[in-house]
Amino acid sequence: MSKPRDEFDLVVIGGGINGAGIARDAALRGLRVCLLEQHDLCHATSRWSSRLIHGGLRYLEYAELGLVRESLRERELLLHLAPHLVKPLPMLVPIYRGARRGRFLIGAGMRLYELLSIGKSLPGYRMLTVPDAVERAPAIETNGLRGAAHYYDAQVTFPERLVVENAVSAAAAGAAIRSYHRVESLRPGPGQAITLGCTNRIHDRALEIRGRVVVNAAGPWVDHVLDGLDRELPGLIGGTKGSHLVIREFTGSPKTACYIEAESDGRPYFVIPWNRLLLIGTTDIRCSGNPDDVTADPDELDYLLTETNRVFPMAQLGRDDVLYHYTGVRPLPRRPKGSEGAITRRHLLRDHSPQCPGLFSVIGGKLTTFRNLAEEVVDQVQALAGHANATCSTDSMPLPGAEQSLDEVAAELNHCSSLSNGAREHLLAVYGSRAGQVAVLAESHPDLAREIDPWSHAIAAEIVFALEHELATCLADVLLRRCMVGLSPDLGRQGFERALEVAASELGWDAARASAERAEYNNEISKLRELLD
Ligand SMILES: Cc1cc2nc3c(=O)[nH]c(=O)nc-3n(C[C@H](O)[C@H](O)[C@H](O)COP(=O)(O)OP(=O)(O)OC[C@H]3O[C@@H](n4cnc5c(N)ncnc54)[C@H](O)[C@@H]3O)c2cc1C
Repeated sequence: MSKPRDEFDLVVIGGGINGAGIARDAALRGLRVCLLEQHDLCHATSRWSSRLIHGGLRYLEYAELGLVRESLRERELLLHLAPHLVKPLPMLVPIYRGARRGRFLIGAGMRLYELLSIGKSLPGYRMLTVPDAVERAPAIETNGLRGAAHYYDAQVTFPERLVVENAVSAAAAGAAIRSYHRVESLRPGPGQAITLGCTNRIHDRALEIRGRVVVNAAGPWVDHVLDGLDRELPGLIGGTKGSHLVIREFTGSPKTACYIEAESDGRPYFVIPWNRLLLIGTTDIRCSGNPDDVTADPDELDYLLTETNRVFPMAQLGRDDVLYHYTGVRPLPRRPKGSEGAITRRHLLRDHSPQCPGLFSVIGGKLTTFRNLAEEVVDQVQALAGHANATCSTDSMPLPGAEQSLDEVAAELNHCSSLSNGAREHLLAVYGSRAGQVAVLAESHPDLAREIDPWSHAIAAEIVFALEHELATCLADVLLRRCMVGLSPDLGRQGFERALEVAASELGWDAARASAERAEYNNEISKLRELLD
């Protein structure tokens, strides 16, 4: 007998990288899946990260060899399964006289990292002389510089796209992806199901959904979702916040990412060429309270600027140079004592039986390891969900934007006379092989081939594509988490106005909708400029 519309084998709470990855894996195995996300997909931690797909050189200091090996294996898989989104990233580790990590330690770390990445396709590490280091980072401080290590990791410029493509793939395999649905309560039973009380935030309507198995993948909100369910349960998550800032490239700014030891506290942090800008971060500070309210402190911005000025003195960075900044909360396992850096980045799955049979919570995890985390979670819960023998296919199945070779798609785009070179590059980098579908829309209507943002070269067709084919609901979703115009230096303000014109003419949006959309957009981006205006 078929199940009622709102009854599922598996309900996933949270549309970040972990929730989207779990929904995709389970849907591809044939489970009837529903994903519930209180905002848009990738609204939280997964986009406020350093955007690296990395083994985590730093974790070697804490002897987390298993985690590093797992991360390096996943890095290799993602380079093949999502080559349009995950790209090799050269990394420079400058070595200064008197630093905590000297030449010997860094050399040993490099050898171990290399050993753990056996079978990798990326080039191996090299130890560099000072002139070789300066060639890669021309403005680097040479006083006290003894050389550098050079190795490869990977970067996902837009984790937003990684999440969206996982969700698009899950939806194609039959999953119901319900963004703007907040889970308000969880109730065991009746029978072998869990009832979730939800609010549909678009229509401001309450509804109930039932799942044989429920996976709580709400990231830093895991404990909030569990609120009131199990009073004996101590908090599972002990979040630490991390901030990044984004600046323009400066004269002599590094051509490769730099992994730098901060002078003030010895913590390593990154200066990363990203989106034709520089991404600098991160901090690591314990925080409690509602993750919605977490923002950067002035001290964090000053710490990152001061430390970067120390290594690149010619940059003379001040707060005026910051285009925007962002802060996320790592959903780490609760460890009230000890240094933040020492808390494991490994993931755990908590089974809430017998208080609530069928309910599981995901704790921790990295962007890098989401696919493997999803595989482990679905392996563990599928029998309870009624699909004991289904097998995982995500280790060999490309994401939707990698289903066709990028060279072939690039050749096809070259035939689209309505697109500029900039637009072609942008479409390929953002959509991979799905760029062809956006180009078809653009070719069908000259207005849709128009660029809406001079920085990213995004085009009007992407607005329609995101709303019709990529699970977006409003322009903030489209600009900030689909076509990525919102991460331009002006936070997409110019692009927004043009996108609104497109929505009015192509989709018939009226003045009331336009003003609601503008208010929503400004609200989202204002947080990224706090302390700066
Ligand atoms: C500063 C920083 C830097 C990082 N850098 C890296 C890096 O470079 N590489 C790397 O591999 N990892 C990195 N990480 C770790 C990685 O980003 C996170 O571990 C990962 O993104 C967590 O994903 P998630 O899906 O569990 O959580 P999230 O992305 O936070 O997703 C959880 C979702 O649940 C939703 N939700 C919450 N409550 C409810 C509810 N009641 N109903 C419905 N939905 C709800 C939220 O809105 C949210 O969208 C970094 C993390 C931080 C904070």
